[in-house]
Amino acid sequence: MASDELTAIRSRRVVLPDGEHPATLRIDNGKISAILPYESGTGAYDCGDDALLPGLVDTHVHINEPGRTEWEGFATATRAAAAGGVTTLLDMPLNSLPPTVDVAALKLKQEAAQGQCAVDVGFWGGAIPQNLGALRPLHEAGVYGFKCFLADSGVAEFPPLNHAQLAAALSEMRRLDGLLIVHAESAAALRQVVDSSRYQDFLDSRPDGAEVEAIAELADLAELAGGARIHVLHLSAAAALETVAAAKRRGVKLTAETCPHYLTLAAEAIPNGATEFKCCPPIREAGNRDRLWAGLAAGTIDCVVSDHSPATPELKLTGSFTTAWGGIASLQLGLPLMWTQARRRGHTLVDIARWMADAPARLAGVKGKGRISPGYQADLIQFQPDADFVVDPASLAHRHPVSPYAGHSLTGVVRSTWLAGATVDPGKPKGRLLSR
Ligand SMILES: [Zn+2]
Repeated sequence: MASDELTAIRSRRVVLPDGEHPATLRIDNGKISAILPYESGTGAYDCGDDALLPGLVDTHVHINEPGRTEWEGFATATRAAAAGGVTTLLDMPLNSLPPTVDVAALKLKQEAAQGQCAVDVGFWGGAIPQNLGALRPLHEAGVYGFKCFLADSGVAEFPPLNHAQLAAALSEMRRLDGLLIVHAESAAALRQVVDSSRYQDFLDSRPDGAEVEAIAELADLAELAGGARIHVLHLSAAAALETVAAAKRRGVKLTAETCPHYLTLAAEAIPNGATEFKCCPPIREAGNRDRLWAGLAAGTIDCVVSDHSPATPELKLTGSFTTAWGGIASLQLGLPLMWTQARRRGHTLVDIARWMADAPARLAGVKGKGRISPGYQADLIQFQPDADFVVDPASLAHRHPVSPYAGHSLTGVVRSTWLAGATVDPGKPKGRLLSR
């Protein structure tokens, strides 16, 4: 059993930014105050041979409350997060109602979240055609940045930006020193399909060229806007890696994330009609997946976050690939999904901590989070890197335990999660609401 309030904790495998080391952490007022030799930690909570990692920072989560709370809510999402070792999450501005596109909507979000969160939660704002002239108040109210689409978002109340509106949003980001986070699929490159249950038809309707075009447009506009900061959400198309890398080389302030489903699943293995695998952009072929791993290893992709986007089983599982809800809910499974693949590919827990904790915290500007270092919040997870389990959807804590990973064998079990040095107890939610 984990001790409820840590004053010191030790492990033979503390995952620090520069490597795994035996160490003892001293904890004061919920923060890491010192990193000491393992031997000095007599009497400390002892993880033994289990690894001690920083709590993960998942900057891409759709919680849907208020307004579509029947899809997902703060209590269930944050419970799933804690079980999966995620101690900080940032909520996306769409799929809840109203969408987080003004200060009043942000206040409604915060009121809905208050007292329900088992982990710390911050919020993104949205940039839509209707609010482009009024982003500053939302920025000043503490959102971490603004999300926009370049094609249909899936919900009518969150329309996409056209080219001129995207340019305007980027100019405003530069004035605010804000961050624009973009669902980068270009509307012009998407193809309409007649109603189909064939996965290949769905994949063909969202070609990798849609991502390449969108990212090229973004990089050009960000440069024209004099150095606005942009972040590419859920990169799926390996064909766009060179576009991302080229933008970075020429000094565009562009970062990119991908998600566990793009790094672990493959189109060839998705059965027709299996809409639990539907997400946008889509899961592509195994060769694409291997190139995404190479892009991650090379630093072209900066981080890995869940894009946890649940809906009701009715919306997710009935209908065709054309009509079913697009989104995969994996908040609780991201760490074992990634670790199972990463260790096979020669990566370490240090890489995992960088991709899933430190890098997302830094690029979203979540301060004092994402690494084990003096002064950082004592958000920690005890992790068994060699323990195997089989995914049983009934053990998932998000509202509707639908999962494309049902029956998958994964490696890596989260044994304990601490938030600010205290054991996470979903019955007594202690998560704070964060502002930039
Ligand atoms: Zn999303």
